[in-house]
Amino acid sequence: MVQVNSDYLKLKAGYLFPEISRRIKEFNAKNPDADLIRLGIGDVTEPLPLACREAMKYAIEEMGTQQGFRGYGPEQGYQWLRESIVENDYLTRGCEIKAEEIFVSDGSKCDSSNILDILGKANKIAVTDPVYPVYVDTNVMTGRTGEVNSSGEYDGLSYIPINSDNGFEAAIPKEKFDVIYLCFPNNPTGAVATREQLFSWVKYAKENNSLILFDAAYEAFITDESIPHSIYEIEGSKDCAIEFRSFSKNAGFTGTRCAFTVIPKSLKGKAGAEEVDLWSLWNRRQSTKFNGVSYIVQRGAEAVYSIEGKKQIKKLVSFYMNNAQIIKENLTAAGYEVFGAINAPYAWIKTPKNMSSWDFFDFLLAKANVVGTPGSGFGAAGEGYFRLSAFNSRENVEKAMQRIVKL
Ligand SMILES: *Cc1c(COP(=O)(O)O)cnc(C)c1O
Repeated sequence: MVQVNSDYLKLKAGYLFPEISRRIKEFNAKNPDADLIRLGIGDVTEPLPLACREAMKYAIEEMGTQQGFRGYGPEQGYQWLRESIVENDYLTRGCEIKAEEIFVSDGSKCDSSNILDILGKANKIAVTDPVYPVYVDTNVMTGRTGEVNSSGEYDGLSYIPINSDNGFEAAIPKEKFDVIYLCFPNNPTGAVATREQLFSWVKYAKENNSLILFDAAYEAFITDESIPHSIYEIEGSKDCAIEFRSFSKNAGFTGTRCAFTVIPKSLKGKAGAEEVDLWSLWNRRQSTKFNGVSYIVQRGAEAVYSIEGKKQIKKLVSFYMNNAQIIKENLTAAGYEVFGAINAPYAWIKTPKNMSSWDFFDFLLAKANVVGTPGSGFGAAGEGYFRLSAFNSRENVEKAMQRIVKL
């Protein structure tokens, strides 16, 4: 028989979202008429912006003409999209990123997983806790960890807690890690990193020759003007950080698929005594394993940066952020302790009366017919917290709040 990758067997059996689905199914079977409101999984709900749709329709028509037809595109993305990204996302914020340092892709989930392809196995790795499960699971799948313990922590991975004890600020580690995953604005806690905090991380990374993997999927949701949108707003970061960005959350591309990763040319790693630049390795990896994002979708993504596109995206983001505000205000008024929801589309709620995350999940499901996400599913330090997502219709958010407030 064929040998399987036994590292997959180390993955925690009761993974978060399947377990949520199981409990919902069970609930539905017993309560077939219940009107469930799902504020759980972090998927967007509002339609694609008009500017993106128009650009994609036009691109489809182009593909139907002799001159406009395109086959395989550049694996790194079309130059016009890479230039638009640089101009709008980076130069405007004073970040000296070059178009060739942008790698367009079909998702940040994939990129933040695939990046492990070009990193050695002996690296010491740290994640924040709670954490976006993808970072952890892909380290497990690629054999970079040992077994999992009863609180869901893997041997060989280090966890940096972010919770109310430290004001949702990941403390700079005393020990040396080679790779650190940071996600700000944070999924699931909604916390952000200030300029000073990011500066400390960059300083740490430079002193320890570490690599920061910075996930900025939610940068568009930042409302506080003092908060950096990119790690490259911090001086020195081009020597120690890779940044992941996505059109999924700001432009509703979760089903359309387009994202990008920034790998500065100055970023170095080592192979034995030899210095190697990460850009070349990633370029080689993408050229071999990836055939680029479709022309049509890249035209749709480019439209995010048009005048109309920018207006529509702003509206979309504020729609969700108004939902977040409604959640925060209602729950706070009802006596809940609510974090996040100011610079991120997630409210991170302390469970009442020291209820466990899963008990609170069952309680909300049974009493309010509202589905959220138990904090413990994002890591041991998420126990005692609960995530509600602002990605839903206004009507559903208001209805869910009315129900919860009455409990
Ligand atoms: C949604 C999300 C992404 C985006 O992933 P895509 O693959 O681009 O859709 C990235 N990181 C985090 C933490 C997210 O929640």
